[in-house]
Order: sequence, then C-alpha cells, then structure tokens
Amino acid sequence: QSTINQIAAGEVIERPASVVKELLENAIDAKASAVTVEIRDGGISFIRVTDNGCGIPKEQIPTAFLRHSTSKIQSVEDLFTIGSLGFRGEALSSIAAVAQVEIVTKTQGSMSASRYEIAGGEGREVQEVGAPDGTTFLVRNLFYNTPVRRKFLKTPATEGAHIVDLVEKIALSHPEISIRLIQNHQNKLHTSGNHNLKDIIYTIYGREITSNLLEIESSRDVISIKGFAGKPVIARSNRNFENYFINGRYIKSNIIGKAIEEAYRPFMMQHKYPFTLLHISIEPELLDVNVHPTKMELRFQDGEMIFRAVRDAISDALMHREL
Ligand code: ADP
Ligand code: MG
Repeated sequence: QSTINQIAAGEVIERPASVVKELLENAIDAKASAVTVEIRDGGISFIRVTDNGCGIPKEQIPTAFLRHSTSKIQSVEDLFTIGSLGFRGEALSSIAAVAQVEIVTKTQGSMSASRYEIAGGEGREVQEVGAPDGTTFLVRNLFYNTPVRRKFLKTPATEGAHIVDLVEKIALSHPEISIRLIQNHQNKLHTSGNHNLKDIIYTIYGREITSNLLEIESSRDVISIKGFAGKPVIARSNRNFENYFINGRYIKSNIIGKAIEEAYRPFMMQHKYPFTLLHISIEPELLDVNVHPTKMELRFQDGEMIFRAVRDAISDALMHREL
C-alpha cells in the first residue's frame, strides 16, 4: 500500500507547488471563504494551509488519507458539472506518502477539534484538541523518504516562485475567496474576497497593467465571458500574462490561445502577447476533458463556437476602447 501510494504520489505531487494546489483546491471545495497559505524554504520544509471551511468529521479523518476512498465524483464527465475541484481522491494519500503531515480540523457541529499525524503513509491516533472551525494542514519535509525525488527539487527560491505563481492564479480564479500567502514570514499576497477582480489584478500585476484594462462582459450562445483585456500598449514578450479560467478552473487550451491571438492581431506587433484575464462560463455538457493528474487539456464539443465567443468578446472590447 505504501509503495503504491509513493508511486501514485509521483504522478500527483511533483513539487511543493503541487501540494499547495491540492490543499488549496480542497479548501475551496470545503466552501472556505478565507484561506491562508504559509510557506518556508520554498515549501520544501514547511507548508501550512488554513481554511475556515466545513472541516472533516473526526471519524472520517484517517479514511480521507486512503487512496480513492473519497472520490467526490464518479466519472470524468461529472468534472465540470459538479462544483468541486477534487475528484480523484488521491491528493491526501499522495501527500502523506511522501511528507510528514499534521492536520487539525473541526466541523461546525462538533464540540472539539481533532488532530491527526501521518508520515510516510503511517498514521497515528486521532486526538482531541481545541481549535476554531475549519481545517489546517501542515506538510513538512516533502520527499523526506524519497531522496531521489528530493534531489530533483530546484532551489527554495525557484520552488517558492512556483507557489507564488500558483496562488496568484487561484486568487484570480476565485475573487470570492480571501486568499493570503505568507512566504518566509512575509506577506506576499492578500486578497479581500470581495469579488473585485480589478483589485486582485492590481495587487498582483501593479498599477501600469491595472490602468490599461478594457472590461469584457459578453454573453453569447451558451458561453458567457467576463474579465479584462489589456490594451496593446501593455503587451509583453511572453505568454505569461494570458490567464483564462473555465467554470472556475485554471486551464490550458490551444483554441482559446488562438482566439486571443486573432482578436489582437490587428493591434499587435509580432511576438508580443497581451494581458488577458477571462472568466469563461459554459455549459458543462459542451466540454470534453482529457484528464492527467496534474495538467488538464480541454477539448470542446464545438471548438468553433468557443473560438468565436472569445475572439469576438475581445475584439469588441478592443474596437470600442477609448484611444
Ligand atoms: P478529493 O479532493 O479528490 O476528494 P483528496 O485526497 O484531496 O481527494 O481529499 C480527500 C477528502 O478529504 C475530500 O474528499 C474531503 O472530503 C476531505 N478534505 C480534504 N481537505 C479538506 C478540507 N480542507 N476541508 C474539508 N474536507 C477536506
Ligand atoms: Mg482534493
């Protein structure tokens, strides 16, 4: 069991940022309105994620760390229908297989909180402790028992930068959640959770970008798009500023990338890429998902339709901009 978990962990947990991603998604699934992520040493030695979500009932804690025990959905098709980000039921087991994990969790209905430790897949007894509603995960010494993988980690600075990128993306995809990131005891990001996307963009990207945005709000066919398109003046030489989320998920898609490119083509110099932040909502039935444990490539039943919706939404904003 523990070997299988370690192998599975290799698929899901590549680096500290993967741990943060899984724990953040669980917090979001738990309907938290505020989440704090604290990392030290690029997350290699210390990751703590605290949420004010629903908590885990005492008797379900050890089970939550078993592989596939808690899958929230039955099939890949459910993925975009059901509102939850988690679906494989293997994140916690994977993390616990390759790190030292401590969890303190309390549901609203219970009198006390529970504390549980598990390392290398070996769990201790659940203890009663005092704590507020919600869940705190502490993940220490990632890959402490898999030296080869530990060796493949980059420097704490690089691993930390991956975590910052990831937390920023999640903050942008969930403006309704207050998200805080503390890196080496310093406040790195703190969003208000008041739904204001522009505030979050300001916090992450700064003044120049924020003051050169065109608002997008379009609803066509079964696709609605909200967000911002950067004016061509703030274009960059790489694609890092292209953000788009589908039904709240951060995702990569060639079709959407191409649609953005085409909308900007008349306004853009070659080899320049715009800032975009698009929240795309679409009927889940129109999506095909090809799921890899860490990456998600989307296919659309009607790629042409999504292409046009994205391109036209951006084009409209660019045409009507005040020059
Ligand atoms: P999945 O998210 O795919 O269901 P995970 O291994 O990530 O699988 O989590 C296992 C289960 O543990 C979840 O289904 C959920 O019931 C519970 N859980 C994990 N994290 C939290 C959390 N922060 N708050 C409440 N419940 C949680
Ligand atoms: Mg999960």
